[in-house]
Amino acid sequence: MTSQSYRYLIVGAGLAGAAAAEGIRQVDQQGRILLVGAETDLPYDRPPLSKQLWTGGKTVAEIVLHDEMFYKTSAVDLRLGTKVAQIDAAAHTIRDSEGNVYGYERLLLATGGAPRRLSIPGGDLDGISYYRTLHDYRALRGAAGEGKSALVVGGGFIGSEMAASLRTNKLAVTMIFPSPWLVSRVFPESLGRYLTEQYRAKGVEVLDGDVPLSIRRDGGGYLTRTRAGREVRTDLVVAGIGITPNISLAESAGLSTGNGVIVNEFLQTSAPDIYAAGDIALFPAAGFGPRRMEHWDNAVSQGKHAGRNMAGAREPFTYIPFFFSDLFEFGYEAVGDIDSRLTTFADWQEENRTGVVYYLDGDRLRGAMMCNVWGKVDEARALIQKAQPVSAASLRGAIQ
Ligand code: NAP
Repeated sequence: MTSQSYRYLIVGAGLAGAAAAEGIRQVDQQGRILLVGAETDLPYDRPPLSKQLWTGGKTVAEIVLHDEMFYKTSAVDLRLGTKVAQIDAAAHTIRDSEGNVYGYERLLLATGGAPRRLSIPGGDLDGISYYRTLHDYRALRGAAGEGKSALVVGGGFIGSEMAASLRTNKLAVTMIFPSPWLVSRVFPESLGRYLTEQYRAKGVEVLDGDVPLSIRRDGGGYLTRTRAGREVRTDLVVAGIGITPNISLAESAGLSTGNGVIVNEFLQTSAPDIYAAGDIALFPAAGFGPRRMEHWDNAVSQGKHAGRNMAGAREPFTYIPFFFSDLFEFGYEAVGDIDSRLTTFADWQEENRTGVVYYLDGDRLRGAMMCNVWGKVDEARALIQKAQPVSAASLRGAIQ
């Protein structure tokens, strides 16, 4: 059993955790840092898991954020493959699952999210990929040879990206999701329906408005029965039906929680020496109100920011993170409130292919999605932050 003390302790060695170590070092080059993570891989970039690792744009070696030398030279001790079992906020200690105890002066919770699982008969069968980690990528890549078949459950970010990536790798792909079109929480109807048809044109069988009711083993593969009475036989099943933020450590430490760990504008939890960042942080987004964001840029920017504040910078987090996706030839970057329940105005250069979709709440611009229009995130962010009355006419041509 070890017992050591650190000035900074980071729980979660994902994007937010690794970025926090960088943020700390921007302000404090001396204080000892311990970075603890449950995964066994060095911290890596997550977006390529459903994109460039499948399209040949990147290799696994290229998505590792820093090599071991970086952590050594930055005086960051790494404990990978290690789960934290308990935080004692009053004593300023954590205990890992092997009983080792570590003291801290400032702690960051960056524990991310766990994939939701299908609560149906067969939802826990071995081999169903609840796709989230590099480990999941390796397992699926090994099984996803050309000519294999896959059922992709979910039509959100993971489902839409994985269906495109698997199809690009010449698998026979079927998708199933409850809404009438792909990525329905983000895409307005006309764009969503158009992209759903594009998926069909690419050879993806899309079962919209349907959900799996049971899955069972069928030879070497799986037989999935659906609510609409279909039977789908595939070699593989890949599910992306959302994540649940990992907040149980925070709850047991007595921190204030809701749909995440509640933090203030400095990313401090209700225990001032404990910070939270990334998927779990329920933060007071400037101009938007309290929210959690489950995207790459949020993890990186908040992680770095929390690190700087842990080291004494005390800067409010006012940044509006962006996100991006690649679905066959359709790529986009988006910033702000990208919610299809808002009023949308699409300013197309080429309909449903190139242009900007604006998301409005009354006469306020809340968000913008740049479709195959690149390098305009800062412009869009500035337009949102102006917080001036807008109309479809005033937005036409605003970002090109
Ligand atoms: P998600 O984007 O929330 O999508 C969940 C999808 O699952 C939705 O299509 C939902 O349909 C569907 N669904 C829910 N229950 C279902 C069921 N029983 N059967 C079939 N479909 C069901 O979550 P995700 O795709 O799993 O992504 C996980 C996390 O990774 C998210 O936090 C996401 O932000 C992040 N991520 C981000 C990116 C990016 O920024 N490009 C890429 C990959 C992952 P309804 O909407 O109709 O309920």
